[in-house]
Amino acid sequence: MELEFYGATRRVTGSCHILRAGGRTILLDCGLVQGGPEDEAVNREPFPFDPADIDAVVLSHGHIDHSGRVPLLVKRGFRGSVHTHEATIELCRVLLKDSASLAEHDARRRMRHGHADSEPLYTVDDAMRAVAHMKGMRYGEVRQILPGINLRLHDAGHILGSAFVELEVSEGDVRRTIVFSGDIGQYGTPIMNDPAAIGHADYVLVESTYGDRLHRSHEETVREIGGIITEACRECGNILIPAFAIGRSQELLYLFGQHYQEWDLARWEVYLDSPMAIEASRIYWNHPELWDEEATLFRREMRSMPPLDNLHLTGRVEESMAINGKREGAIIVAGSGMCNGGRIIHHLKHSLERPECHVIIIGFQAVGTLGRKLVEGHKEVFINGDRYRVAAKVHTLGGLSAHGDRDDLLRWVGSCEGKPAVFVVHGEETVKQVFRETIRASLSLETKVPLPGDVLNLETGALGSSVS
Ligand SMILES: [Zn+2]
Repeated sequence: MELEFYGATRRVTGSCHILRAGGRTILLDCGLVQGGPEDEAVNREPFPFDPADIDAVVLSHGHIDHSGRVPLLVKRGFRGSVHTHEATIELCRVLLKDSASLAEHDARRRMRHGHADSEPLYTVDDAMRAVAHMKGMRYGEVRQILPGINLRLHDAGHILGSAFVELEVSEGDVRRTIVFSGDIGQYGTPIMNDPAAIGHADYVLVESTYGDRLHRSHEETVREIGGIITEACRECGNILIPAFAIGRSQELLYLFGQHYQEWDLARWEVYLDSPMAIEASRIYWNHPELWDEEATLFRREMRSMPPLDNLHLTGRVEESMAINGKREGAIIVAGSGMCNGGRIIHHLKHSLERPECHVIIIGFQAVGTLGRKLVEGHKEVFINGDRYRVAAKVHTLGGLSAHGDRDDLLRWVGSCEGKPAVFVVHGEETVKQVFRETIRASLSLETKVPLPGDVLNLETGALGSSVS
């Protein structure tokens, strides 16, 4: 029995690990690499295995950097089941369809520019076929997915349906428990429950997106947003919030509802300008059983979710374009979360050069994305080849991140009973090294940062290179 570290080992996106036991092969996540064009070219490369040889996939959650290559896997011959939380299937139907539409759009553009390779990464039909392979589970349910391999999903508190994965693997007398974090949410985040405790594990794979820093507290973040809204109101500008369609968008609407009076939101028009976020919001509101206590109470008191009379769900393109006519008083929540596509692009084009406008960055921004350049304070950016001066004020708010910070991740790893060996994955290189040292110092656990292709012998615990 062994585990091979494959994707998201050198970068933050493209999560994927390979478990081999009892003659079977299982993938943990099969995510898309996100970033600049060179990063994303990696997605087209062949898998380091034959997809037809994979017996099953376990999917931690719907985000595309964890699920986005599942359609490609199916297209290239995978025939098994994809085990995941039932809410993740609903979200994947929305997310993978969108990812496929983007790929088809990109392929048409490549064809127009005379590229030889103009086949889309996958089509909407491929995406729907991938969803048909998914078998839903609930948190806590134990499922034997293959002989000798039991799966249990636990709430990771990251987005709706997000799970950390517990796999109990037996071969003869040897039995090992592997826990894979997927993405771990913040403790105390709106709507979502706190990440569950780990219980027993021999091995823990932990993400490290924010393993080197602390987010601002929720209260401070709420005050900060209130301050930005007041400032933008005084300056007569608009507020742009690039947000992942799934997770942040719903939490923002929820916060707007909670702080409606305090933030004087009656003076604003709020636009959720993303067909995908609109669909995802409906899925969120339809799963109150997955909400935390506070959100459940809030929902009970309100007539509708979210309780915003001035919310506009602008699904159609014409509705989105019409927002450009509004020079002030608009709060626009649009994707993509890293500003590397989607409707936020045309809003940025209209607002970036206006000093009275504000951009609030609330999620992680991968290297190479426009969002990252804004966070880094570039005074000039290029959008679709055109130069834009950045005069709008850019605010980065870590407190609303869907990812736990260093202390959240430590607390989660620390919830493991016994002395597991810990492997730090899914983070930028320096962050992983820093977080490894933090785990060693704070929890006294043996902790390693595996390289892509490293193989962990699950029986002995030895970590070696797979180069064959
Ligand atoms: Zn995620």
